Amino acid sequence: MKTVYLDNNATTQVAPEVVEVMIPYFHDLYGNPSSMHSFGGQVGKKVRDAREKTAALIGALPEEIIFTSCGTESDNTAIRSALATNPDRRHIVTSRVEHPAVRALCAHLATRGYRVTEIAVDGEGRLDMDQYRKSLTPDTAVVSLMWANNETGVIFPVEEAAGLARERGILFHTDAVQAVGKISIDMSRSSINMLSISGHKLHAPKGIGVLFVRKGTKFSPFMIGGHQEKGRRGGTENTPSIIGMGKAAELALLRMEDENTRVKRLRDRLESEILKRVPGSRVNGDTVHRLPNTTNLSFEYVEGEGILLMMDEFGICASSGSACTSGSLQPSHVLRAMGVPFTMAHGSIRFSLSVYNTDEDVDHVIEKLPPIIETLRSMSPYWKSLGDEACARF
Ligand code: PLP
Repeated sequence: MKTVYLDNNATTQVAPEVVEVMIPYFHDLYGNPSSMHSFGGQVGKKVRDAREKTAALIGALPEEIIFTSCGTESDNTAIRSALATNPDRRHIVTSRVEHPAVRALCAHLATRGYRVTEIAVDGEGRLDMDQYRKSLTPDTAVVSLMWANNETGVIFPVEEAAGLARERGILFHTDAVQAVGKISIDMSRSSINMLSISGHKLHAPKGIGVLFVRKGTKFSPFMIGGHQEKGRRGGTENTPSIIGMGKAAELALLRMEDENTRVKRLRDRLESEILKRVPGSRVNGDTVHRLPNTTNLSFEYVEGEGILLMMDEFGICASSGSACTSGSLQPSHVLRAMGVPFTMAHGSIRFSLSVYNTDEDVDHVIEKLPPIIETLRSMSPYWKSLGDEACARF
């Protein structure tokens, strides 16, 4: 059975071109880039090359790029560094819809004496800018706001938010894990101090991340050890993955237009056809300020997990906005923060596309999904309790 992979915000296929450039660094070019001998030195040269390519993707300088192990490490490093370099300030500003890489860290820091303000979002997942402005105080050490939401694809006005923080002398970090490679980002004209990237979201392997730290931003390392990354991140470099990251960054720049035209068209067709064919369905989140590859759809009176299981039988991979954790089917914190009604939040599905998707993939989902929803609704106790009249509404 053909796999139709529409879960690219969870992780992406490593591009074949990326795999190809990585392979020599496992068996032939395995030297340590920090070694004095030329066997290691030639690898060091390739690491520099990868740093330049990665910097080019976000309009940064090569020396502003620190390679890490993942997006989570980058987020943790940025926030902890801002706190360590501003020891007199004890306040963190973030949002209610951040990824756990930021949210759980902030919750942890709240137990260590920091005050955390989580900015609310409206029903479309848009940041409450009034609350944000009012939240910035002389005690605020750092703001951490995501560039784009992993569940809905909604894009926050991070440049505007960073400008407001800068006017008040507050460091600004953005988790751009879902944005980099999908939309154009230019750090050369920006007030953002730190920005996180994760390789596996843009066709590089898992286990490689990047932290951009603007030149002149005070920095305190999270991983303390050797002198690697100019003393900003100890640990022998993951050379194959760094080289893969460089290639993925180069490809992302080349494919940005395809992502924003063809992939966006595929996403829009998928979305509009499903909305047309499935009664009681809706899009969650702002459809204007949104990543080109993501749609988060809700189907009233069905469970997202049920939809996922049935789609899986047809080779369709997506994600649900409700996580079956600790036995309770809780809608995601993102949909709850947006106030998505209970009956809708439970039946939410995220489709996230990539440059590897085709019209045939979209056709497959458009054909298979409507009968799945119909079948699940016919089995749903909620649905039955509505009675014939309410069912006829759909
Ligand atoms: N931030 C966002 C918005 C994400 O979507 C993810 C991964 O899903 C992360 C951070 C964590 O990245 P990683 O898996 O590389 O640790």
